[in-house]
Amino acid sequence: MRKNIVAGNWKMNTTLDEGVELANEINAKVKETAHNCDVIICVPFTHLTSVNAMIEPDVVALGAENCSEHDKGAYTGEVSAAMVKSTGATHVILGHSERRQYFGENNEQLLAKTRQALANGLTPIFCVGEVLEDRENGSYNDVVQAQVEALFQLSKEDFEKLIIAYEPVWAIGTGKTATAEQAQDMHAHIRKVIAEKYGKETADSTSILYGGSCKPENARELFSKPDVDGGLIGGAALKADSFLGIIEAFN
Ligand code: PEP
Repeated sequence: MRKNIVAGNWKMNTTLDEGVELANEINAKVKETAHNCDVIICVPFTHLTSVNAMIEPDVVALGAENCSEHDKGAYTGEVSAAMVKSTGATHVILGHSERRQYFGENNEQLLAKTRQALANGLTPIFCVGEVLEDRENGSYNDVVQAQVEALFQLSKEDFEKLIIAYEPVWAIGTGKTATAEQAQDMHAHIRKVIAEKYGKETADSTSILYGGSCKPENARELFSKPDVDGGLIGGAALKADSFLGIIEAFN
């Protein structure tokens, strides 16, 4: 029904040459390894065209890490969804906590970005997640619910095109992973919230990925949970071997 997905988020890492080499290695290894999930690599804007030329779309799909909420025009330095699409990319990460935290992206902007991505045929990988304070004061379910509900102005048909990534901010790049139970509980909560708005069928067909210090050593346990449909991987996506180790957790 819903897809298992392992997606890499390279963030602001690798020069163009390094990125092309990494993409080449990942493509070759994914191709020769039996795997039971879709594989996506989300790379810096500057790398999209070259990486697209290097990978085979039925082996590894390509995504960007952001796009503008605007269509086009006088927005110096911005990259539109249409531009991302024109490189051959099929996916785009939106609402990553680093974008929310360091660049002040808010729910309204993220809804506009999501609409731009969808209008241009890109699949958003929409990130949600609470900060440590929310986890500690017990408001984490409400915080994440509000982030998901920011998208509830989308039609059911559009919502069904999304991939959701639950990434507790306290687990990103910290080496501190949510336990498989914590991930499962939140994924089940997100699915319930989606079901209440769009119905059980939509909720059951939405892939919800976990992100936050996911590694080959913990991926199998996380992915064994019924509502965890894969991972959005930061640090461990920057080495082909560790990324493959996570992909193989689905075998
Ligand atoms: C991320 O930033 O999307 C992420 C999950 O990072 P890491 O795996 O490095 O925690």
